Amino acid sequence: MTTDKIEFIDLAAQQARIKDKLDARIQAVLAHGKYIMGPEVGELEKQLCEFTGARHCITCASGTDALVLALLAIGIKPGDAVFVPSFTFVATAEAVALLGAIPVFVDVDPVYFLLDLNSLKDAIEYVSKQEMEPRAIIPVDLFGQPADYDSINQFAEQHNLTVIADAAQSFGGELNGNKVGTLAPITTTSFFPAKPLGCYGDGGAVFTDDDNLADRMQSLRVHGKGKDKYDNIRIGINGRLDTLQAAILLEKLAIFPDEIRLRNEVADRYAELLNGNVKTPSVRKGAMSAWAQYTLQVEDRGTCQDNLKQAGIPTAVYYPLPLHQQTAYEHYPRPPAGLKVSEELSQRVFSLPMHPYLTEAMIERITAVSPAVLSKAKVS
Ligand SMILES: *Cc1c(COP(=O)(O)O)cnc(C)c1O
Repeated sequence: MTTDKIEFIDLAAQQARIKDKLDARIQAVLAHGKYIMGPEVGELEKQLCEFTGARHCITCASGTDALVLALLAIGIKPGDAVFVPSFTFVATAEAVALLGAIPVFVDVDPVYFLLDLNSLKDAIEYVSKQEMEPRAIIPVDLFGQPADYDSINQFAEQHNLTVIADAAQSFGGELNGNKVGTLAPITTTSFFPAKPLGCYGDGGAVFTDDDNLADRMQSLRVHGKGKDKYDNIRIGINGRLDTLQAAILLEKLAIFPDEIRLRNEVADRYAELLNGNVKTPSVRKGAMSAWAQYTLQVEDRGTCQDNLKQAGIPTAVYYPLPLHQQTAYEHYPRPPAGLKVSEELSQRVFSLPMHPYLTEAMIERITAVSPAVLSKAKVS
């Protein structure tokens, strides 16, 4: 019993819970045969609007495509500057660079790992002296917690910048009672299998309340189609979500609120049992995390991970290198003060197993190893 295998993310346990419903949904798609933009896609978009409270949802082929669609929709062009945190997954900056625009790296704060407003101010001041036009900010809701949108939206308005929330890790989270998807003018998310709401392949979505942006993204998702699909009115991409993935997401969305509740229970239990022994993650006042990852900070990460591994507990490092130190991105600009927090965090973070199906016994097993091991490596 107590030797139940601990998975880092347990998709099999989730599948067992809804297997019959998933099978029925998949069979329904095979029966109607509308594999591209079938009825499940529209049904999912409607339900995602209801879930988030956003006016429009445009599903798409991945979280990366969601970012590309958002950037294309606001007319980002070569030479434009887009501010992105350095401590994130590569896609945040990649989408910008792919369009020939310039990702300008910004630091994160050391407590919540979220975009740091002071570093953003430095970066904008720096960019305004160069030949780049500042256009947008992409805050990342790292590890599941919404960024400080109250401050960021206000700052963006003052500087005439568009905010695109990269909510690939925070779907299901909230800020001041409002759901992720409504916290910025445009929100992108990912349905990659390991994200809080994942499908069985690649998938993503964009949310907005703006009718014009929504129209444009619907067109951009299908090669920039006009009213007639053989008269394309702009340059777009092939960025549709598969009907099969929409069908799977519909069943996963039905249990998603319960899963978010369970993830929060796991996080609370971790915090109780690890309290004082190691630097556990903090959630901002008014925020509810979707807990994509449960990330600790330690001095000696290697030893911690080795000890946990010996006890049969999987861990992972997100992210071992900040973007501005990666080969393809090291030439992009950053504020003169540098990106010290991103560099430090990448040296000392690692994540414990996090999913809704961790039992009390599993959490106790994980934390029973951790305090003894981790306290030696505690960050002072
Ligand atoms: C996963 C992720 C993405 C990209 O999503 P894909 O669906 O894999 O393309 C973008 N940004 C962040 C922060 C992510 O974690």
